[in-house]
Amino acid sequence: MGLPADLLQILACPLCRQPVEEEAGGERLRCVNAKECGLRYPVREGIPVMLIEEADRACPQCGKARTWAKETLTCPGCNRSFMPR
Ligand SMILES: [Zn+2]
Ligand SMILES: [Zn+2]
Repeated sequence: MGLPADLLQILACPLCRQPVEEEAGGERLRCVNAKECGLRYPVREGIPVMLIEEADRACPQCGKARTWAKETLTCPGCNRSFMPR
């Protein structure tokens, strides 16, 4: 299983506009901007859900779940913010 390659190619992270890649198992898509963003979007019944609100927002540095508010990702663990736009 997995998503069609041509679909993967047109998908992009809605936060930082970088491409996404399929994680092992094909249940999530991960933003390739792993250092700053690294959002993981769920794939539900074969349909990628490209919403920041629905993404796994674990911090790339400390692993804590980051909050998403006011167009900014903020980590409660290392207190870093990420605001690409
Ligand atoms: Zn991203
Ligand atoms: Zn952190």
